[in-house]
Amino acid sequence: MAYYGFAFKNRFCNHTFRSIQPGLKWSNSMRDQSIIESGIEFRQALHQHPELSGQEAQTSRRVIDFLAAFDADEVLENIGGFGLVVTYAFGDEGPEIAIRCELDALPIGEVNQFSYASVTAGVSHKCGHDGHTAIVAGLAAWLSTRPLAGGKVRLLFQAAEENSQGAKAMLADAKLAGFSPDYIFALHNLPGYPLHEILVVRHQFSATVLSLAIHFNGVMAHAAQPETGRNPSLAISEAMIAIQQLVNPDPADRSFTLVTPVYTRIGAPDYGISAAEGELHLTLRTWTEAGMRTLLDTITGIVSRLCKQYELSYFTEQFDYFPAVVNDEHCNEVIIAAARRLGYRVTELSSPMRFGEDFGFFTQQGKGAMFGLGAGLRAPPLHSRDYDFPDALLETGIAVFRSIISDLLGSAARVDQAG
Ligand SMILES: [Zn+2]
Ligand SMILES: [Zn+2]
Repeated sequence: MAYYGFAFKNRFCNHTFRSIQPGLKWSNSMRDQSIIESGIEFRQALHQHPELSGQEAQTSRRVIDFLAAFDADEVLENIGGFGLVVTYAFGDEGPEIAIRCELDALPIGEVNQFSYASVTAGVSHKCGHDGHTAIVAGLAAWLSTRPLAGGKVRLLFQAAEENSQGAKAMLADAKLAGFSPDYIFALHNLPGYPLHEILVVRHQFSATVLSLAIHFNGVMAHAAQPETGRNPSLAISEAMIAIQQLVNPDPADRSFTLVTPVYTRIGAPDYGISAAEGELHLTLRTWTEAGMRTLLDTITGIVSRLCKQYELSYFTEQFDYFPAVVNDEHCNEVIIAAARRLGYRVTELSSPMRFGEDFGFFTQQGKGAMFGLGAGLRAPPLHSRDYDFPDALLETGIAVFRSIISDLLGSAARVDQAG
């Protein structure tokens, strides 16, 4: 989940509940149990040694070391930064499935006192990417037993999710040329929902998010004679008010729009000077790309009009773009069926998450879906200083991905045999 994209908690959704019969859980064989135990140990080691977006060299190395026992067919390193692509191939026939997780931590100091607390001042895993990584690494243990008759599974350990750079860097990396999986899946843990609950959203998992900085420039003057200069303060304050009128907070409406002021500044504390410049920074959220284009055009129109009125110039900067994670309908059905087979409760949310997720770059390329994994009703929110990924979710995450993969590759193998 995007660090800069996090301004709202996703607690505004109306839920519709599907009733699931408790049924088959992932078998607790000795081998599976030891995988979970080593996965927990691995997760806690990642937690203890977090690295910021784009700096995940040691984390990537830890993943490689952990996977060394699991006999992959191919391990590609340094993909889109410190990302890894680990491949298990089961035969020429059958689809290719990619499962993606994230490696990066956040510039947030940890307040937890447990034995595996972050040893790096000011940096910690407050989005649960340590847990996501351990889940996908745990899948490698299962895949190494060559459980499938056909197809291919590629595990993507993606760097730099929080700053929206990692997914597109991975897709642009020449070492991954031709990467075009038939299906791609990812999960994100979601505090505020019951532990182990599987959360799905039709059509799209998360919002389109973009950050925008608007710079206003006028003319400096003596503070005793502001009328001889051009001070941007009125233009900036009127822009802030006008832009707030664009908000449509109804998540059920496809034209849902949020504009959040995150920072503003006018001039400097130099008391003899009437300010000549200022800036306004916003995060923008819509459900659709078209909605985002309209919002940008409207904001630009407002700023342009005000700058003309107050004889100012301006320029804008856009950054931290997270495209909507678009959920393929079939992929969503596969997730729901997998969770049901395992007896997990499935909740279908009526609207997407408001945060940004750069998994949206993958779903722009092909069929895929992202789902939520409830991290506990009373768990601290993502990106809070006392958050910690619940280790109990490792087994759930691995089991659901296993079930998804078995469903898609297993049925492909049967079709191939029948054909
Ligand atoms: Zn995240
Ligand atoms: Zn995050």
